[in-house]
Amino acid sequence: MDVLVTVPLPEKLLSRIERHHTVTLHNEDSPISRGALETLIQGKAGLLCTITDKVDGELLQRADQLRVVANYGVGYDNIDVEACTAKGILVTNTPGVLTEATADLTMALILAVARRLLEGDQMVRQGRFKAWTPFGFLGREVSGKTLGIIGLGRIGRAVAKRANAFSMKVIYYSRTRLPGDQEHALQVDYTDLEGLLKESDFVSIHVPLTDGTRHMIGREEFSLMKRTAYLINTSRGAVVDEEALAEALKSGRIAGAGLDVYEHEPKVHEALLEMKNTVLLPHIGSATVETRTRMGELAVENLLAGLDNKRPPTCLNWDAVKAKVA
Ligand code: NAP
Repeated sequence: MDVLVTVPLPEKLLSRIERHHTVTLHNEDSPISRGALETLIQGKAGLLCTITDKVDGELLQRADQLRVVANYGVGYDNIDVEACTAKGILVTNTPGVLTEATADLTMALILAVARRLLEGDQMVRQGRFKAWTPFGFLGREVSGKTLGIIGLGRIGRAVAKRANAFSMKVIYYSRTRLPGDQEHALQVDYTDLEGLLKESDFVSIHVPLTDGTRHMIGREEFSLMKRTAYLINTSRGAVVDEEALAEALKSGRIAGAGLDVYEHEPKVHEALLEMKNTVLLPHIGSATVETRTRMGELAVENLLAGLDNKRPPTCLNWDAVKAKVA
């Protein structure tokens, strides 16, 4: 079958697909253009794509032969899963394999904003470090502070474990409350969103981007947070109203923000770029050699299984598609 791969996979993985199928590869470390995606999708039975590729109704209209969309990423807000299901197309993602890397990056952002790591780095590089001083570069202690996790799924739980090791108190708000024994094991306490925003010194977001979470954190939510609190976001930019975040930071409504993702990625709100109390990363939550290798392996396994009409290891709509076909 003909397959389109928009991720420059390592040779070993690529040859696993090529053993069974004919591959058209977008062999660049930059997103495929919409025009190329629309042209190349025609006649393809499989698409291995990334979170920058929009698989929407319009694309699906051109995808006359498509049977499987294997996303190289756990978040799948780039894919209209409902529209795929309606056309009998399987959709897969890569959960689990990127949990630890993303949780590590979340902790890195917490520490970076609280201890002003980037400001300090710049000071040293610019030759402005003249002496140790008692009141220079004071940050905020992380130990003993309250971390509020919004969305206690795989990554949220991995962040909770790390925060416990840093002697933080962890509270959470999530769609589904964990059973008591799991809360106890993770040393987390459940609260509603309002309570979490009021109580937390660090608010860290780990929900997927859906219609229900878009702009979940906006003006009203920032008004509930402590003036000394920091917002950390390694989920998806549009969960936060970026305009409201810029205002909250400018006005001192909150103390700072550590961000890996942006509402209009790769564009970043001008005001955020100018502030000292922001740490801004280029969407690198899962960007380690080990994790990206595992994501590639899982995406390829998913693709091959789906094309072979077998249940892919991490399929989002297997039952729905099969029910439709039956
Ligand atoms: P997950 O295991 O599905 O966890 C998501 C959690 O959010 C679940 O506990 C879910 O509740 C909860 N949730 C969903 N909708 C909610 C709502 N409306 N209100 C409150 N809670 C809600 O996903 P994950 O693997 O942890 O990944 C989370 C997200 O991180 C991904 O979707 C992706 O967008 C992002 N991500 C970013 C990077 C990066 O590079 N920065 C890397 C990896 C992932 P239920 O238990 O009820 O489903």
